[in-house]
Amino acid sequence: MTHPTKYIFVTGGVISSLGKGIISASLARLLQARGYKVTIQKFDPYINVDPGSLNPYEHGECYVTTDGVEADLDLGHYERFLSIETTRANSVTTGHIYMSVIDKERRGEYLGKTIQVIPHITNEIKQRIQILGNTGKYDIIITEIGGTVGDIESVPHIEAVRQLKWELGYKNSIVVHLGLIPYLAAAGELKTKPIQHSVKNLMSSGVQPDVLVCRTEHHLPQGIKDKLALFCNVRKEAVIENMDAETIYDVPMHMLEEQLDKVVLEDLGLPCPDKLDMDKWEDFLYRHKNPKSEVNVALVGKYVSLHDAYKSIVESFVHAGAACETKVNVHWIYSGDVKADTASEILGGMDAILVGPGSGERGTDGKIEAARYARENGIPFLGICLGMQMAVVEFARNVLGYKDAHSVEIVRNTAHPVIDLMDSAKSVSSKGGTTRLGSWPCEVKEGSLAYEVYGSKEIAERHRHRYELSSEYLPEIEKAGMVATGVNKETGLVDIVEIPSHPWYMAVQFHPEYRSKVEAPHPLFVHFIEAAKKHSESK
Ligand code: GLN
Repeated sequence: MTHPTKYIFVTGGVISSLGKGIISASLARLLQARGYKVTIQKFDPYINVDPGSLNPYEHGECYVTTDGVEADLDLGHYERFLSIETTRANSVTTGHIYMSVIDKERRGEYLGKTIQVIPHITNEIKQRIQILGNTGKYDIIITEIGGTVGDIESVPHIEAVRQLKWELGYKNSIVVHLGLIPYLAAAGELKTKPIQHSVKNLMSSGVQPDVLVCRTEHHLPQGIKDKLALFCNVRKEAVIENMDAETIYDVPMHMLEEQLDKVVLEDLGLPCPDKLDMDKWEDFLYRHKNPKSEVNVALVGKYVSLHDAYKSIVESFVHAGAACETKVNVHWIYSGDVKADTASEILGGMDAILVGPGSGERGTDGKIEAARYARENGIPFLGICLGMQMAVVEFARNVLGYKDAHSVEIVRNTAHPVIDLMDSAKSVSSKGGTTRLGSWPCEVKEGSLAYEVYGSKEIAERHRHRYELSSEYLPEIEKAGMVATGVNKETGLVDIVEIPSHPWYMAVQFHPEYRSKVEAPHPLFVHFIEAAKKHSESK
């Protein structure tokens, strides 16, 4: 690397939910395709220290990184688009910033100074922004500033961006501002005023955007682009159209057509090589859009009314579907609706059933029923985390005959705690402290379905849970036909169970969905969809 690390700050204007994460990831993917080493970090304006304790209805799924950070779901997009791994440094909340400033104050590190938003909070933000850049591993760092310009919460972040832009110097950093161009159907007009105002807002904080990305439902005529360029002080080529896309995975190709990568590289003073490495991506898109068959998969969970709560699972289905040239129709099933007398009506037509992760009692009976229905009817089944735990409870109840078997998370004093706290966790009272979090190695048994899936004995997957299959019950469970085929060698904790007499039944204590990538779909999902295809063909 012959140049200093360059920084791209991505801000949002007009309204939230415009897709800053997807734009950041798409831009990063294109820069990667041009040969640059890129990573993305997200600064969330909320005061929670991490989304681990947030209800999924607030911001959707809590993503987990290899190093065990509970992070914003945008990190999942970054990993899926870029085939990289993110870490603690890629996800920063206002909670982190304040906590570390207050810790330093308590330790006396500020030598008796008055602690203020400027400079202490802004300095902390600037320092965090540069952590990844300072590793020397990247050519370009993209920093996504959560929230909308003008929000009170974003003010320190925007000020930090202003200062950094000045400190880094000419051509070493740029600001990409994403805003909405609404279409007024009655007037048949695209309106530029809201984005102009959001740019004014940014400029009143001393930040001039270099690139404008305009989210729109209709093509932007050149006249509109020219007008925006003039009134927002950006060059004409730097006004980028961001039309609503059929799939998020089209966005990098749209940005390529709009030459976002070229504009950004020019602004950063970097060459834009002609060679573009997007073949695998385009192959994925082609397969995704031209399926040869389709399957119906039930996703059983309690947060199904908010699809973002299962973001990584849904995206894993998209990747696996493309790999299998199959359209995966996800049927969102609220677990509370699945009962002994409704299961066949709800799940009977499905080619596969996935019982998802979760916490707490609500809807667990339905998860148990769904696992029973899949097991008894030979429907391909995948249980993930709480989904595995409920599958084990189901097996203990209906095969071993322990009618009151349960997880101690749900029934504290159950007579048959087939899912229990790890012994080492029993004495710890604070919740976060006992969670098995992040990547753990797992040894896969040769000859098992899991071995067929992974093609390897040594695997590592990401975890986020407190409860485990009880080692006390394992021998009985195995004897009755549900076997442990993936185990953490050091602790003996069971990570995978399967039922060899079933056409395709696997339940995993970890979250394979966090590791599926556009250009490297997760083998567990690929095999699951293959099994669904087979099931559908056999009907
Ligand atoms: N609530 C369960 C546990 O803590 C499962 C968690 C999950 O599904 N991620 O063990």
